[in-house]
Amino acid sequence: MKVIKNTLQMQKIALKHLKDGDEIGLVPTMGALHEGHISLIAKSVKNDDITIVSIFVNPTQFGPNEDYLKYPRPSEKDKEICKKNHVDYVFMPLVNDVFPSDYKTFVEVKTLQDILCGAFRPNHFRGVATVVAKLFNISCADRAYFGMKDFQQLKIVEKMAKDLNFRTKIVPCSIARERNGLALSSRNSYLSVDEKKMSMNISRILREAAKDFRCRNFNSVKKDALDKLKKIPGSKIDYAEIVNFDDLSPTDKNTKKAVFTVAIWIGKTRLIDNVVMIKSRRRVRK
Ligand code: AMP
Repeated sequence: MKVIKNTLQMQKIALKHLKDGDEIGLVPTMGALHEGHISLIAKSVKNDDITIVSIFVNPTQFGPNEDYLKYPRPSEKDKEICKKNHVDYVFMPLVNDVFPSDYKTFVEVKTLQDILCGAFRPNHFRGVATVVAKLFNISCADRAYFGMKDFQQLKIVEKMAKDLNFRTKIVPCSIARERNGLALSSRNSYLSVDEKKMSMNISRILREAAKDFRCRNFNSVKKDALDKLKKIPGSKIDYAEIVNFDDLSPTDKNTKKAVFTVAIWIGKTRLIDNVVMIKSRRRVRK
């Protein structure tokens, strides 16, 4: 495994692999790697000749009062995890290499970037789309792996790749969870023991809602879930919305496949989670 810190060097190496006929997989991350990231890496190692894991805490996707400075950066441990999981290249560029002081170009995915998390984190998805576009160009990836945990991010990256004619294919990956259901996240390390216990309720409530959605309308399912979410001690809900699976648009009575997506503060930690909801074809007996 090689650790590459320079964007030009990474691109040169990737171009050489491309020329040699290798298929390249990219796993973009901000580090503090956990089993969720490892599940993405495993898919790439299985599918691709070459796996590149990028580790970059991207300043352009953090707001001024967010956790950019305190975001965990256990780089030695991350490298060990990558090595153990058969990664070929860890790409760890410096901030001023990716975004030099005269940097000017940004990617925006209109509408999708402004709803859900975007309504609470202005410019967040502009930062995400921009860095992902750069990583696609630097890595020359045939495939890039994104977790469904960040569902809105996945949809935005899919749309950006389609609109801008990237040759990189986006591979969605299912959410890795703790045994108690809590979605794995680098930010879980901010939670106290008690807060972690409270956080476990989020996935349980979402699971119950998905079950209810099979035969009830989404307004009543959403209301029940919201009531339960509000009762989690120490919680503050940014949003809890059921949206269309394909394009995050509002659901209606014809919606067959939706996503219930939530962002909730537990104490000082903002957690996101979601569940896919599929309407049952069976009629419900009264
Ligand atoms: P991050 O390091 O948080 O920016 O995440 C990097 C990638 O890992 C993103 O595509 C995330 O969606 C994905 N990811 C993070 N947590 C999980 C998880 N629990 N399950 C699956 N994928 C995840």
